[in-house]
Amino acid sequence: MKPPPLKDDCFAMPPGVDWTPVDDALAMLRNGLHCVTEVEEVAVPNAGGRILASDVLAVRSNPPYSNSAVDGYGFAYDCLPDAEVCELPLAQGRAAAGAPFEEVLADGQALRILTGARVPEGVDTVVLEEDCSVSDDRIAFRSGLKRGANTRAAGEDVAAGNVVLSAEHLLRPQDLALLAAVGIATVFVRRKLRVAVLSTGDEVVSVGQTASSAQIYDANRPMLLDVIRAWGFEPVDLGRVADDAELVTEAFDRGAEQADAILTSGGASAGDEDHVSAVLAAKGDLQTWRIAVKPGRPLALALWNGVPVFGLPGNPVAALVCTLVFARPALSLLAGSAWQEPVGFDVPAAFGKNKKAGRREYLRARVRDGKAEVFKSEGSGRISGLSWAEGLVELSDGALTLAEGDLVRFYPYAAFGI
Ligand code: AMP
Ligand code: MG
Repeated sequence: MKPPPLKDDCFAMPPGVDWTPVDDALAMLRNGLHCVTEVEEVAVPNAGGRILASDVLAVRSNPPYSNSAVDGYGFAYDCLPDAEVCELPLAQGRAAAGAPFEEVLADGQALRILTGARVPEGVDTVVLEEDCSVSDDRIAFRSGLKRGANTRAAGEDVAAGNVVLSAEHLLRPQDLALLAAVGIATVFVRRKLRVAVLSTGDEVVSVGQTASSAQIYDANRPMLLDVIRAWGFEPVDLGRVADDAELVTEAFDRGAEQADAILTSGGASAGDEDHVSAVLAAKGDLQTWRIAVKPGRPLALALWNGVPVFGLPGNPVAALVCTLVFARPALSLLAGSAWQEPVGFDVPAAFGKNKKAGRREYLRARVRDGKAEVFKSEGSGRISGLSWAEGLVELSDGALTLAEGDLVRFYPYAAFGI
């Protein structure tokens, strides 16, 4: 007997089955999860990548004192003559950064002042040295300066006592500059979230070991562990286990002891050898989400001894997409940061595509000459496409007929924190 022909859309949804739209799945995660990490105090230089546990108030203003923005000559604006060319005698001494002029500058005089120097009393305006001619201890320059020109007022950037960064904020390098500038030496941050990663599958072999002709290398675990690292969490490597209920159970026990969340890949469907979902179901609190997303589905979610388990698909492309789209915001909440929405932008497509209604799609993509190109294949075992790509194009849930030049939403990988 001739087998039936393959359907041209093998991801077609079975009739009568309800698929959870991506946004509903995200809303459920957002409602169901909260911060699980304790607070610790760390020195600002070591606080990069950590999540603030409380609002931070400026101890001092930035700048803390009025200072010169340029190398030039300072004076009191009100003493300038009403003439086309202003001429002022130079006072003795100078003001430099870290070596202030401690006297009060006499009215009608100018003082040599350098960038970053505290503006002395008697000075409120600075003229750029390039705009001056200097001779016989006098300077001359064209009128037209504004009061306060070339100075930075105390507190013009940040006033002491104001909130500079809020709780749940993930500290980036530039934030450390801000904290240091406003006089903060230590901050209260969340302990790093520990995230365990487990690979499952009889056919899956750890890198470095010998693989038989019927085995594949574990591609997911190095990828997921590194994603965890890139997100500033602490990776916990649970290794790889065979499709065996007891081994999977033992691995979950270890994971729940050592980590705040567990990512597994493989075995999450409802097949005979899908021991991850079977074991999670046996514990009684499995939620298998048939999420309307490609690549993806299903995503098994459960609590194991109170620790959330994300049962990701085994296919590396689907595993990564589900991790970026679902696990990232979920883990961020567990870690104590705000819900993370990737920031993408619309670019013209360099491709055309027809898409049916009912699920969201993510395509491996990159932008060239201002247009989004997509990888030649949508096969979710095509790992090379993940490296070829520089981000993902997101196609909305509804039906779509895309022509070249139509706008599509592109998320660089960096929008997902990798
Ligand atoms: P599963 O979700 O277990 O049905 O696996 C789906 C596909 O992903 C199968 O072709 C598996 O061989 C493959 N797969 C599962 N785990 C991994 C892994 N850790 N690395 C690479 N491929 C995997
Ligand atoms: Mg499997």
